[in-house]
Amino acid sequence: MAWHKKKKTNLTKLRIFRTFVQFVMFILMNLTFFLFGATWLVLPINMPRSIFSSSEGAFFLLQRMLTTAIVPLVPLAAFFLIGSIFGRLFCAWGCPFGMFQDLLGYLTSWVRKYEPTQDTNLNLRQIGEFITGATLLLSTFIGVNVALGERATIEASFDVFVEQPWAVLSPSVFLFTAIPLLFWWGGIENFIIWEKFVLINVIFWLRLFIFIFAFILVIYVPRGWCRWFCPVGIIMGHLGKYSLVGIGRNISKCTHCGICEDVCPMGVRILADPPEKVRNPLCTNCLDCIAACPEDAMEIKFL
Ligand code: SF4
Ligand code: SF4
Ligand code: SF4
Repeated sequence: MAWHKKKKTNLTKLRIFRTFVQFVMFILMNLTFFLFGATWLVLPINMPRSIFSSSEGAFFLLQRMLTTAIVPLVPLAAFFLIGSIFGRLFCAWGCPFGMFQDLLGYLTSWVRKYEPTQDTNLNLRQIGEFITGATLLLSTFIGVNVALGERATIEASFDVFVEQPWAVLSPSVFLFTAIPLLFWWGGIENFIIWEKFVLINVIFWLRLFIFIFAFILVIYVPRGWCRWFCPVGIIMGHLGKYSLVGIGRNISKCTHCGICEDVCPMGVRILADPPEKVRNPLCTNCLDCIAACPEDAMEIKFL
């Protein structure tokens, strides 16, 4: 079935509106940059704490609390409360690293995109599952040793990984903390001091490599980092399958034209999911499928 012009316009308007919301959220998360207070917002997003930010993503806070032997009630509550009600909603509408990927995708829309199969998408998520599990295990191990009074030994053993193991390698930390520091806050010297690295340090090159990998990946696979690697997306994907708010398909209206699948930025195979609710861990409730469906068959569902 051909695209309806009105629906195409709807989709464009929705994407512009979403970019606006993402930008407002980004400002909200970086109020410290505008001299407003300290960190106070904890959401299930990929946002590290920095000298600019008034927020810290729940997965970063979770690591910080585990490694310092504090029961991580706040980040766990953020994950479970938001995830069980809204699923991955903040991935589409509030995450700065998600916004970065969307903008990069729009700017490189002339590049031919690669759309992996559903199986590839779900199989590659195993890498994200591994990153998430390994980070939580390592953080817990560090925290237990700190609680047992082994802080000095553990700091000597884990060095830069001791506070937030995944933050050292995360491309969002590189983008939102290291790069701004490099350019806006006194140049390369501050960058090195902040990280306690020297430029030749193998970890520096590793994190630069991961950032460049993520950058190139996102150009070719829309939201590639969100699909397969991000620990927040992994955790929220599990919760989102059972969330109160989700997306459903009215089978009495659906003509199986496939447009909803074509526009889905996360590559969700909507027609393969139960019509009463998309239970795919990749779905971010972005609403693109609703805006694009020519039969108005896609709808928000409350279960
Ligand atoms: S999956 Fe993507 S949008 Fe969601 S928190 Fe991670 S980087 Fe952000
Ligand atoms: S839900 Fe809408 S866009 Fe998707 S296949 Fe059915 S009619 Fe087409
Ligand atoms: S299934 Fe619909 S709401 Fe979910 S990610 Fe795809 S386009 Fe967005």
